[in-house]
Amino acid sequence: MSRILIVEDEEAIADLEKDYLELSDFEVTIENKGDDGLQTALENEFDLIILDLMLPGMDGFEVCKHIREKKNVPILMVSAKKDDIDKIRGLGLGADDYITKPFSPSELVARVKAHLARYSRLVGSGSESNDVVEIRGLKIDKTARRVYVDDIEKNFTTKEFDLLTFLAENPNHVFTKEELFRKIWNMDSIGDIATVTVHIKKIREKIEYDTSNPQYIETIWGVGYRFKV
Ligand code: CA
Repeated sequence: MSRILIVEDEEAIADLEKDYLELSDFEVTIENKGDDGLQTALENEFDLIILDLMLPGMDGFEVCKHIREKKNVPILMVSAKKDDIDKIRGLGLGADDYITKPFSPSELVARVKAHLARYSRLVGSGSESNDVVEIRGLKIDKTARRVYVDDIEKNFTTKEFDLLTFLAENPNHVFTKEELFRKIWNMDSIGDIATVTVHIKKIREKIEYDTSNPQYIETIWGVGYRFKV
C-alpha cells in the first residue's frame, strides 16, 4: 500500500483529500503545519507528499527545499494562486508537479497515481538486481556504467555518465548549473560552471535524435536543466 503525506492547514481540504485517497487504497497521514510536515516527511518513508504552499510554521517553499535536500520522494505542490506555481518552477525547488486550488479530488488522485507509476518505473522495485534506468529509448546501466540508445552503446566519460545519471534519476526537477557543478564535480566553489554546459552538449550529441529539439535534457532558460519524463 502506498503511503501519502498531506501537509495542509485547511482541515476540510485535508480531510477531503484523505477520503478520496483512502478510497483508492492509499494510506494517508495529515500534518497541518509546515514544520511538523517537514519533520514527519524526514522521519518516515512516504511514497508521495502533497504539500500546500501557504502553511503556518514554515511555508511550502522551505518545506520542499528541505525535503529535497534529504529525500527523492515525489512532491506535488498545491497552491491557490497561479503566480505561485510560476514562482515554484522558477526557484527550481525540486517539486515534481503543481496543482492549483480549487481542484477536484478525483483530479488529485489521478495525478498521485500517475506520479507513483512514473516513479516506480524509474527507480524500480527497490530490489538489488534493478540497477538500470530506462526512459524511452535510453538505457543507463548503473552497475556496468554503460549507456545505450536504442540498444546501441554510446561511450561516456565518467563525468558525462555521472551527470546524465543524476539528471535521469531526478526527473522533472530543474537544477541550476551551479547545483549540477557542485553535485557532479564535488567542489564547493562556484568554479567554472561552463563545464556543465559543455558536458550537457556532449551528452545531448550522444543521446538525442535532434540536439536542437532535445527530448531528454531540456534547457530552462535563465535557470538550468531538467530531465524530461
Ligand atoms: Ca494553506
